[in-house]
Amino acid sequence: MTSALPFLPFSKPTIDEATIAAVGEVLRSGWITSGPKVQAFEAQMSEYFGGRPVRTFNSGTCTMEIALRIAGIGPGDEVITTPISWVATANVIIEVGATPVFADIDPITRNLDLDKLEAAITPRTKAIIPVYLSGLPVDMDRLYAIARKHNLRVVEDAAQAFGSEWKGQRIGAFGDFVSFSFQANKNITTGEGGALVLNNLEEARLAEKYRLQGVTRSGVDGIDVDVLGGKYNMSDIMAAIGLGQFANIAAITAHRRNLARHYYACFGADFEAQSGAQLPLQAFDSSNYHLFQIILPDRGPSTRADFMRALQEGYNIGTGYHYAPIHLFTLYRERGFKEGMFPVAERIGRLTVTLPMFYAMSMADVERTVAAVKAILIK
Ligand SMILES: *Cc1c(COP(=O)(O)O)cnc(C)c1O
Repeated sequence: MTSALPFLPFSKPTIDEATIAAVGEVLRSGWITSGPKVQAFEAQMSEYFGGRPVRTFNSGTCTMEIALRIAGIGPGDEVITTPISWVATANVIIEVGATPVFADIDPITRNLDLDKLEAAITPRTKAIIPVYLSGLPVDMDRLYAIARKHNLRVVEDAAQAFGSEWKGQRIGAFGDFVSFSFQANKNITTGEGGALVLNNLEEARLAEKYRLQGVTRSGVDGIDVDVLGGKYNMSDIMAAIGLGQFANIAAITAHRRNLARHYYACFGADFEAQSGAQLPLQAFDSSNYHLFQIILPDRGPSTRADFMRALQEGYNIGTGYHYAPIHLFTLYRERGFKEGMFPVAERIGRLTVTLPMFYAMSMADVERTVAAVKAILIK
């Protein structure tokens, strides 16, 4: 049985014609590396985040790494994060020479369990990297109360949370370091890219150095290099895409929340009891619904593979897998992590599946997806 309907991917970027034209202008302008478009993109985001300084980079990964460097995190320091994220979140801790420590997740939010986070703090803990999986923030009041109490820096991995809110305030408009990603599937994209919201201009100047070989500019008389930086700057080509995407952020977030509302309405109140699956938390005034993930009923080791194949082959619908528990990757097992350490993360990592959710998706696409999921799971 193959569906006659066109393939429905789980995610797809939407780049409008005005943005494509703006990229063409940059390409014709003679200035394609970091320049006026990067400055304009940073200035617009800074205004959006209540005037806090914002600096751009060429990935969300290096954005977090630079935040850790600015915070002075390095060898001998422990950084606590979640095992359920893209592996970048933990890799950057190792990259700066620090030690990654995991705390298990909450089965309902699928984000860091803040009780377990607090229990994992030791005298060597210097920072926390919370992740807002699918765009759902953690309890931000509690997170910052813990950080203040134990004198910890926070590098928010808000890669998935551009446009998300906490009690009416935008994620990024408050807190410590807030890191965003503009990778192709994120709610707004620059192809690849990232942005960091910082606390003050001194940190922002350090971020500028870390993204460009540590170079300090001191006018026409020459330059100096005083920290070990890398090559992490965003180009004006990327920033032109970002400016076009950013202009639509309110509409993007609103449409994704409407798609999520439609998902819950189509699944209906009985779906969880009938199928044994678990829907994501309903959080229309905080989550930006970057992803719409369900936890499948456990039908053995091939549960997810069977489900993904059934949707693909029977209904021409694509799905995603976010994420495999980080602590079970070889690199992390070699550092002493093993099965059984974080049972909630291990169960959710085994049974989570990401359904289609993107800006160009229609309400009919939601209905088609829900009908297919019900046909597969409810026998
Ligand atoms: C996308 C993502 C990253 C990495 O961002 P890149 O821009 O791909 O480097 C990190 N953490 C999370 C949670 C992400 O979703």
